[in-house]
Amino acid sequence: MGQREEFIPKWVAWEITRRCNLQCIHCRSASTMESEQGDFSTEDGKKLLDDIAKLSKPTVVLTGGEPLLREDIWELAEYGTKLGFRMCIATNGTLVDDEVCRKMKEVGIRMVSLSLDGSTPEIHDDFRKQPGAYEGVIKAAELFNKHGIPFLINSSFTKRNAHDIPNVYKKARELGAKAWYMFLVLPVGRGEEANAELLNAEEAEYWLNWHYELEKELILKGDNTILVRPTCAPHYYRIFYQNAKRDGLDLKRRNLVFGTGGGKGCVAGQSIAYIDCHGWLRPCSYFPISDVNVFDVPFHEAWFKSKIMQDMRRFDQFKGRCGQCEFLKICNGCRVRAYWEHGDYMEEDPICRYVPVKMRVGVKNTLSLLKDGENG
Ligand code: SF4
Ligand code: SF4
Repeated sequence: MGQREEFIPKWVAWEITRRCNLQCIHCRSASTMESEQGDFSTEDGKKLLDDIAKLSKPTVVLTGGEPLLREDIWELAEYGTKLGFRMCIATNGTLVDDEVCRKMKEVGIRMVSLSLDGSTPEIHDDFRKQPGAYEGVIKAAELFNKHGIPFLINSSFTKRNAHDIPNVYKKARELGAKAWYMFLVLPVGRGEEANAELLNAEEAEYWLNWHYELEKELILKGDNTILVRPTCAPHYYRIFYQNAKRDGLDLKRRNLVFGTGGGKGCVAGQSIAYIDCHGWLRPCSYFPISDVNVFDVPFHEAWFKSKIMQDMRRFDQFKGRCGQCEFLKICNGCRVRAYWEHGDYMEEDPICRYVPVKMRVGVKNTLSLLKDGENG
């Protein structure tokens, strides 16, 4: 099967503005109120949606910055709904009120994602660098419940707030979220100060194992109140498989709410894409580089023409441990972490310490050769 048959967008995030009323420390676009809106006029935006529709009818997430700062958001959302997309909005919650909720329903918004990074105002507001941000999320969740708008909660963690992970999960559940996605914050560049706060491989492994126990308990109890999944930690799929095997369990994973269309850890460039406010197409929202702009090459062609997008689907060319790994098919490794660590997105994911069986055999052979050498 060629790339054209096998890889179709199922989930597309589009940064409709870079302006934001918060200044979170881990923000991928370092947005502020002074950031630019971007290059898409309303008409350009509709053309982009038309071009996406030429390939598939994916979930389209309007994101930012803070997308509610863009005045034509309802017009764009309604246009997408009419094209048959499942339109979603990712908001920090602070601008949500009754009127916004009414508009969301009117234009057919199917799911809203909120960000909650701490179970208390102190922890969340410190992370978001904005007093009152926590109250904004709580109020938005209450309004969504009142208006019957389904929402999920994304939670970002670094060394600063990881101790609060179990409490944030409980809070998301208490607030009535349909899903809770635990996100281990990614590097934002090389040697940047914020990177010092990122969880290291051992800490990530600890929290992913914790998450396995949580998911296992929910599955065994048949509790579907809330779906849980770590995002952008592809090797969780390896950990889940290994732990379930250890426990002698055949655990059936539940389907994600508005998931990204792949039954594996990372599907960047395979079934998901990100378009920034200037039109640059990337495999995912954290991917730092792009080689194609949808203003020059329409989305339905760029999806296939971009070398970077093509590379995301060339699994046999992945390098290092990922390239040799028996879990590659269910994991994929994070291409962004590989890029920041090695300057090559095809390299191995540094946050996973797993040594594939093939490489272990290699080590064993080398050791026995050395031993033979000594004896000879
Ligand atoms: S490449 Fe990394 S950051 Fe991008 S979607 Fe995959 S896991 Fe997430
Ligand atoms: S080595 Fe790479 S492919 Fe294998 S489990 Fe780790 S991140 Fe995934």
